[in-house]
Amino acid sequence: MAEKKKLGIFKLTSCAGCQMRLLYYQHRELEALTAYDITYFKMGKRDNLENIKVDVALIEGCVTNSEQIDELKRIRENSTILATLGGCATRSSLWGLKNNKPEKEIEEKAYKDLSTIHSIKAIPVNDVVKVDYLLPGCPVGEDEMTEFLQSALVGRRPFIKPHSVCVECKMKGNLCILVAKKEPCMGPVTAAGCGALCPTNGRPCYNCRGPMIAANAPALAKEFKKNGLSDEEIYLKFTAFSGLSKVYEEVTDRA
Ligand code: SF4
Ligand code: SF4
Ligand code: SF4
Repeated sequence: MAEKKKLGIFKLTSCAGCQMRLLYYQHRELEALTAYDITYFKMGKRDNLENIKVDVALIEGCVTNSEQIDELKRIRENSTILATLGGCATRSSLWGLKNNKPEKEIEEKAYKDLSTIHSIKAIPVNDVVKVDYLLPGCPVGEDEMTEFLQSALVGRRPFIKPHSVCVECKMKGNLCILVAKKEPCMGPVTAAGCGALCPTNGRPCYNCRGPMIAANAPALAKEFKKNGLSDEEIYLKFTAFSGLSKVYEEVTDRA
């Protein structure tokens, strides 16, 4: 019998929700996972093999200290395919909020004793090492995770949805709350994959999945402004889950 491909699942700075969801809430992904030899997954198994070569590495979380930079480079050297697992790894997500303030100020707010603290700005994984695939989501959804695991197994490029949440929203036949109720919905610039969960339940999308490719951020910011949002509110909408993503830089660049 052919040897199974080796998979390592690694955690940097994150809430661990992507790993948690992978373990406890879905079925198809667990089936896909059984096709792999999981050599490293601290949340999922007791015995983990350090520093061994893997076919596929999944990284959850972003970098917030210099040790993690070394760790990430080691993982990259030891892996054939490396993919980010969720928004924290892909674009620093919520952790990127701290990048708006001096690091010292953040440390003083978070810790009483700073003598052992040496944090750095929140950096997404692809700013440190080459990444083969970026899996968005907070957490990554079942469909895209299964698609990635199955594709990596057979050496096929995974299909990652290129469109916005609006497309999924329209496919569900929802009334557009941005147009009809002037609610500040981030759907037009947010990567699809959640099935338009929030608008389907009557509330605006708040961009937890991060930017879709080629989003027209200025057009949406203009619409928000027309609907009464202040510049600061618009800035927070575009940075809360996406840090200082280049896709939104025409709206978020304050230089
Ligand atoms: S992407 Fe979301 S769910 Fe996944 S680790 Fe980050 S904060 Fe948690
Ligand atoms: S409600 Fe939001 S996600 Fe749905 S179509 Fe309108 S803007 Fe797009
Ligand atoms: S915030 Fe937007 S991207 Fe996140 S689950 Fe809700 S609709 Fe989907």
